[in-house]
Amino acid sequence: AKEEGRNCIRFYSNSINDRALARFTLEADLRKALDEDGLEVYYQPQVDLRTGKATGMEALVRWNHPQRGFISPSDFIPVAEEAGLIDGLSRWVMHTACAQARAWSQQGAGEVRMAVNLSARQFYAGNLAHVVADVLASTGLPSRLLEVELTEGMVMKDPKVTLDALEALKGMGVSIAVDDFGTGYSSLAYLKKYPLDVLKIDRSFVRDIATDPDDAAIARAIIVMAKSLGMVVIGEGVETEQQLAFLRENGCDQAQGYLMARPASAGDAEKYLRGHLLI
Ligand code: C2E
Ligand code: CA
Ligand code: CA
Ligand code: CA
Repeated sequence: AKEEGRNCIRFYSNSINDRALARFTLEADLRKALDEDGLEVYYQPQVDLRTGKATGMEALVRWNHPQRGFISPSDFIPVAEEAGLIDGLSRWVMHTACAQARAWSQQGAGEVRMAVNLSARQFYAGNLAHVVADVLASTGLPSRLLEVELTEGMVMKDPKVTLDALEALKGMGVSIAVDDFGTGYSSLAYLKKYPLDVLKIDRSFVRDIATDPDDAAIARAIIVMAKSLGMVVIGEGVETEQQLAFLRENGCDQAQGYLMARPASAGDAEKYLRGHLLI
C-alpha cells in the first residue's frame, strides 16, 4: 500500500509538471502566433429578423495551431490573459475586424456593424477609449459601425470604471452590447444606469426556446424588457427554424447562429454578405 501511495504521489506531481509544461508551451506558441500572423479573425452574421439581411457581423478570433489544429478561444483567451498577451491580441482583433468592415463597405459588399468582444482586462485597462479611437482613426471605420460586446460580469465589477469607460465609448459614437445576457448573477439595475444599446440573449435560453415553456417565458420577457428600454435585442445560438420562428414571432430584432451561418473566414463571410445584404 505504501509503495502504491508513493507511486500515486509521483504520478500526481508528474501530471502537474506536465500540465505546467503544456501551459508554458501553449503560452510560447501563442506568443509566436501573435508575432507571426498565426491568428485569424472569423465573422458570424447577425441577421435582421424582418428583412432577413445581415446588418452586423461578430468578430471571433481563431487560432489554427500548427500541431494541434484549431484551439477554441474559450481555451486560449484565458491563457492570453494570464500571460499578459491579451492587450496585444485584443488590439489586433479589433484592428483586423474594423479594417475588414471598412473594406467591405468600400468594396460594395455592404455596410455592416462590426461587433468585437472585449476581454475583462481590456475593459479595465483604463486606455480602452484611447485604443478604440486609435483603431477607428487608423482603419477609417465610422464609429457608428463599431459595437463592443461585454458580459454582465464585466459591467458589474466596478461601477465607476464601467460608467466612465462606457460613457467615453458612447461619446465617440460606438455602440455597446451586453453579451450572454441572463447568465450573470447580476441585478438588472445596471440596465438603466449605463448607456447600453444591445442585449444578446444567451444561447442557453435559446436552445430550448421552442420546447421548454420556462425558456420561452424567459426569452419573451427579455425581449419585452429590452424593447421597453429602447434596446436592440439579438438571439444567440439559433440552430433551428423553430427557434428562429419563435424569436421572430416574439419581436426579437436580430438573430445569430449556425442556422444562418457559422463563423467563417473573411472571404466566406463576404460571400454571405453579398448574398444577403444587397437588395
Ligand atoms: P461569445 O462571445 O458568446 O461568442 C459566440 C460563440 O458561440 C462563438 O464561439 C460562436 O462560434 C458560437 N456560436 C455561434 N452560433 C452558434 C450556434 O448556433 N450554436 C452553438 N452551439 N454555438 C454558436 P467561439 O468562436 O468558440 O468563441 C467562444 C467565446 O470566446 C466567445 O463567446 C467569446 O467569449 C470568446 N471570444 C471569441 N473571440 C474573442 C475575441 O476576439 N476576444 C475576446 N476577448 N474573446 C473572444
Ligand atoms: Ca460575443
Ligand atoms: Ca455570447
Ligand atoms: Ca422547464
